[in-house]
Amino acid sequence: METQIKQLLGTVVHPETGTDIVTSGMIEHLAATNEKKTVVLRFAKARDPFAVKIKNQVEALLKEHFPQSEILVVVKEGGQAPRPEPKEKTTTGSIAHIVAIASGKGGVGKSTVTANLAIALRNMGFRVGILDADIYGPSQPKMFGVEGYVPDAVQEDGTDLIVPAESMDIRLMSIGFFIKPTDALLWRGAMAVNALKQMIHQTKWGPLDFLLLDLPPGTGDIHLSIIGELKIDSAAIVSTPQQVAVADVVRGAEMFRNPNVNIPIAGIIENMAWFTPEELPENRYYLFGKGGARRFAEENGIGLLGEIPIVQSIMEGAEEGRPATAIDPRVEQHYREIAERIVENVMKKR
Ligand code: ADP
Repeated sequence: METQIKQLLGTVVHPETGTDIVTSGMIEHLAATNEKKTVVLRFAKARDPFAVKIKNQVEALLKEHFPQSEILVVVKEGGQAPRPEPKEKTTTGSIAHIVAIASGKGGVGKSTVTANLAIALRNMGFRVGILDADIYGPSQPKMFGVEGYVPDAVQEDGTDLIVPAESMDIRLMSIGFFIKPTDALLWRGAMAVNALKQMIHQTKWGPLDFLLLDLPPGTGDIHLSIIGELKIDSAAIVSTPQQVAVADVVRGAEMFRNPNVNIPIAGIIENMAWFTPEELPENRYYLFGKGGARRFAEENGIGLLGEIPIVQSIMEGAEEGRPATAIDPRVEQHYREIAERIVENVMKKR
């Protein structure tokens, strides 16, 4: 079926180059199932005047030939378009890689993944920090047992800096250090933007290999303001098997792919992919179906970074202020695989 689609797309010619979009290598990704056809088109220019026209042509062709199928055509612009520079100089200059961890919805385990990934990267010998920007539920202080930490202010070269918490060799700055859980949500949003800006521009990180950014769930103004302030190298999207097919995850991916944002997506992390009881460590129960994230990733031209099962120690670790990766080698192995893929991904992009 993919060959057939390629033949079809071979009839679409870019008016400027006079070459068809297949020959000129503009098909970055193609996935076809009976239910869905996905094409990712790559335009070399940042704002190709023919992008919309070609996208519409491709959509129309596919709809005509596969009327029963869902059609998704994604446009990526700018071969290696430069990412927007942050508006202000940030204190993250001494950080080699900033990786955002996002999710379509709350409660899918984004913060737990962030904390455990941080430990997995630490175990690989990297210097790691976490910037917890989840204004709706900042949970990193609890995950690392530093709730109630009051950041100190210090002066360095005439600028005021705030000192991050440190736990298990992870430097941690959290919006939770600045807002009370009882603050009304509306008020929180307004305060949060300013507090986030301060955290981004004034944290005394010191040299780090990785800064993991725990984003709020979903997509919204707060994301745009963070993206505008901070140069993010790569993004990972966390989802559960039930949530992976819903629109929020696609919206998350689209946010990073937006030409004005243009943050490479390292891939999807499927959390709670299966259940393994403590006493039967070899058994896997796929409570919510199997392989959903892999399919979704393939269909949307996104990589799959890895799958994490439901494990009691992961939940307990989050409660006890010590991520399970620090103490449970079986758990560590899952996050380690994902960490290795992220490392590979960001190194490749340099
Ligand atoms: P989010 O940041 O997406 O809102 P959290 O990381 O706070 O989600 O996770 C929600 C709940 O699920 C927490 O109680 C956490 O301990 C638990 N949890 C997350 N991932 C796992 C897992 N793989 N196994 C067991 N419990 C998990």
